[in-house]
Amino acid sequence: MFFSEKQSKGTELRIKIKKVLFRKKTKFQLVEIFDSLDWGKVLAIDSLFMVTEKDEFFYHESLVHPLLSTIKKPSKVLIIGGGDGGALKEVLKHPVKEVTQVEIDEEVFKACKNFFPWANKAYKDKRVKIIFEDARDFIKKVKEKFDAIILDTSDPVGPAKVFYTEDFYENLKKILKKDGGISLQAESPIFHLKVIKKIYNILNKKFQSIFPYLSPMPTYPGGLWLYFLVFKRKKSIIKPIRIPKKTKYYNRDIHETCFKIPEFLKKSLKTL
Ligand code: SAM
Repeated sequence: MFFSEKQSKGTELRIKIKKVLFRKKTKFQLVEIFDSLDWGKVLAIDSLFMVTEKDEFFYHESLVHPLLSTIKKPSKVLIIGGGDGGALKEVLKHPVKEVTQVEIDEEVFKACKNFFPWANKAYKDKRVKIIFEDARDFIKKVKEKFDAIILDTSDPVGPAKVFYTEDFYENLKKILKKDGGISLQAESPIFHLKVIKKIYNILNKKFQSIFPYLSPMPTYPGGLWLYFLVFKRKKSIIKPIRIPKKTKYYNRDIHETCFKIPEFLKKSLKTL
């Protein structure tokens, strides 16, 4: 049996499945967990790869560490989405005091806690508070401000559409401390340049400093993934203050090179 993700009109990624471990159509989306031959356990949402045990570290470490390593005291962190717990396990490698996570779908959280040992461990940490709510509503009413906000959201379909709007970033800015930063995943530079330009355009209107950066991500479309690191304040250098321990991808060299952007992407981001 194979699981196949349609990555674009003409490209599919197909992997051999040993067993279906979980499948449920929740109120929000289709959530599936498989055991696979090459990629370990795999989480798919609405038939798209979200996490595989084999390559999750490229994505989660890239999403979290370039941001948290550059923030002096990342005491209060907010994670939006990320019900699989992968981003959370990386956040907990930093000297954080409190992590709030807002995930719309409790079923993703429950299933991942059950099947991914890292999620089970991370969600037991006393510093973590998980809220099941649409992040759009949460950020409008929350009174606290955060040192760092991490957007571990799905592609711009279904409940995640909200993450691609100006309103959302305007509200996000209000709950970010003045020296705080946001990191977000921004899709595939190979397949999704239109969406990337849309996000970049919004970020440009709302934030003083925007740093695009890249990492490999074998099971995501195109195998190469883009992220943005954004700050309210003007910043010119983004040197790491500390490097977390026990990483598999991220280190000081990766931090220094991940912000080097290839020519086609530079051109593309300039064409706004
Ligand atoms: N790494 C992933 C990727 O891009 O393939 C993203 C993974 S993570 C599983 C995305 C999570 O965002 C899902 O668990 C989904 O339920 C959650 N999500 C989607 N829309 C949301 C919303 N409006 N508020 C909060 N969480 C949301």
